[in-house]
Amino acid sequence: MAAVFQGLVIAHLGQGIAVEHDGAIWLCQTRRKIDTVAVGDQVMVSEAAPLQGRIEEILPRRSVLLRPARGDKARPVAANIDTVFIIFAVEPFCDFLLLDQYLAICENHNFNAALVLNKTDLPASADIEHELAHYRQLGYPLYRVSAAASNGLDELKAVLNQQLSIFVGQSGVGKSSLTNALIPDKELKTNTISATTKHGRHTTTAATLYHLPDGGDLIDSPGVAIFGLADMSLQQLAYGYREFQPLQDECRFNNCSHVSDKGCAVRAAAEQGTIAPSRYQRFLKLREKM
Ligand code: GDP
Ligand code: ZN
Repeated sequence: MAAVFQGLVIAHLGQGIAVEHDGAIWLCQTRRKIDTVAVGDQVMVSEAAPLQGRIEEILPRRSVLLRPARGDKARPVAANIDTVFIIFAVEPFCDFLLLDQYLAICENHNFNAALVLNKTDLPASADIEHELAHYRQLGYPLYRVSAAASNGLDELKAVLNQQLSIFVGQSGVGKSSLTNALIPDKELKTNTISATTKHGRHTTTAATLYHLPDGGDLIDSPGVAIFGLADMSLQQLAYGYREFQPLQDECRFNNCSHVSDKGCAVRAAAEQGTIAPSRYQRFLKLREKM
């Protein structure tokens, strides 16, 4: 009987799925639709040929990150993530609306969320600092880094080394620069995956899992649109604002939308400044977009 072993999905390749087991990379096929297997999955593999296998089973996931649905069902991009690191930057533009959107998804999917402000070699405006203080107050960890100047990377490595993480953020904020700084032999590793599975260079798509030199794993997902509001309900959006939670019970109506001012404790708190008015305004904006 063919040997069966447990492995870790590290990439999707053109011709199959790269599964790591005991330091070796196996090219695997699956009976299921290939899309249902995600990078970060623990899988059971049966050996079909040397370094070639078949995925028989996906082991239960701690968490799963979905790519927005395009008509049909949302697809898993990455599994078993502990923390989503939301990368943003002093410039081109500090998009707090997008940040809130990412945070709402994290809250609803039970991911830990951490903020990473990149390009701190450039001066941050007082407005940015003012906004950031709100997020700190809400308990979100904030790391200030500069990929270009190698500032703050040790602090970041110290939290990355205990867990499976993913970086998200709009393009231009420095995700690739940061990833390259944290995984110095990244290209070599990517080539190794491709070479081992005999599919040449640059065939990995969507997402790739890398082991970090100091411990921990990082999923790199260049160009993958991971987050969307599409699958979220209005209730979930409100749940995504963690400071609303203790206030909800004080709203006059159980199903309060936190929009009208009739007895809404959330709106009242924003008006009184006990919660950040800017966060509340962004909640209203996102709500409208949905
Ligand atoms: P990505 O689209 O998020 O992957 O961003 P990139 O890593 O491609 O970086 C976008 C641009 O920002 C590039 O021109 C980088 O050189 C620049 N950049 C990245 N990190 C820093 C930084 O820490 N400071 C400054 N000043 N520029 C940076
Ligand atoms: Zn309310």
